Amino acid sequence: MKPAPFEWHGPERLEEVLALLAEYGDDAKVLAGGQSLVPMLALRLTRFDHLVDVNRVEGLAGISRLDGWLRVGATTRHRVLERDPQVHEAVPLLARATPHVGHFQIRNRGTLGGAVAHADPAAEHPAVALALDAVMEVSSVRGAREVAARDFFEGTWATVLSPDEVLTGVRFPIRAERSGFAVEEVARRHGDFALVGVVCAVTAGAGAGDRLDRAALALFGVGGTPVRATTAERALLEGASLEEVGMAAANEIDPVDDLHASARYRRKVAGVLVQRALGRAIEEARRG
Ligand SMILES: Cc1cc2nc3c(=O)[nH]c(=O)nc-3n(C[C@H](O)[C@H](O)[C@H](O)COP(=O)(O)OP(=O)(O)OC[C@H]3O[C@@H](n4cnc5c(N)ncnc54)[C@H](O)[C@@H]3O)c2cc1C
Repeated sequence: MKPAPFEWHGPERLEEVLALLAEYGDDAKVLAGGQSLVPMLALRLTRFDHLVDVNRVEGLAGISRLDGWLRVGATTRHRVLERDPQVHEAVPLLARATPHVGHFQIRNRGTLGGAVAHADPAAEHPAVALALDAVMEVSSVRGAREVAARDFFEGTWATVLSPDEVLTGVRFPIRAERSGFAVEEVARRHGDFALVGVVCAVTAGAGAGDRLDRAALALFGVGGTPVRATTAERALLEGASLEEVGMAAANEIDPVDDLHASARYRRKVAGVLVQRALGRAIEEARRG
């Protein structure tokens, strides 16, 4: 099928993007890598009279460090996140989650901003943002604002972004000393969206003991949004075994039955993936 007719706009400055979004409101949609939007338009699952292509906008792509954060511009491609040594060193979880996104052809075009703004509940990057307490940078003609990742995702393909707003970048905290990270997911085939996945970040306490200072677990593919398993995180910090933490995470999610997997299956797999991911992350954190 082909998309319904639309007018394409190719602004080169952020101010032009904001003006177009303000002018056309609900009739306009931002086009980034097109890896989710274009199939939806072609299948006529959605239609917009105006597409505002942000690929040429100066300054919207790129990676920079500032005051303990790594800032990733919205149109930075997945492929860059996967390969840039700075990302591997400063935000390992982001670098490690990215190869799980689709196939390399998709990662060549798809963008971080697109993945986050699209808010697919089975996508990796929203879960990474949630686990790391990332900050979303948002702009419109009304001004700029920042939104914490925990407040950003509202439901399947739904975020707090208004039709006139554009995501300009995401800030991730630079890894702390003695921290470890892991990504685990189950998909039917490599490149498919995950049926269930987990990303985790832990920081080991100073000294030789087993104490952890921080534990973050975000699950995806288990509900309308990525989910922080806060009860499981607390249990881990209080010294529970990995098996107990896995069970706690499985019990606090609310997955649904769908064409791809039953809720029961998702819950069971989530518990196992949490154990596996935490085992690796904790080992990495303790190695220092
Ligand atoms: C076969 C296939 C498999 C895939 N598998 C996975 C997978 O396993 N995991 C995964 O995470 N993704 C997967 N994807 C999706 C892929 O990651 C997309 O790149 C991503 O979801 C959207 O990024 P994009 O830049 O292509 O955005 P687009 O498709 O251009 O846009 C997606 C949505 O985000 C909005 N948007 C984009 N950028 C902005 C912005 N800066 N500000 C405001 N709104 C914006 C658009 O308006 C649109 O609503 C897959 C896609 C395909 C086709």
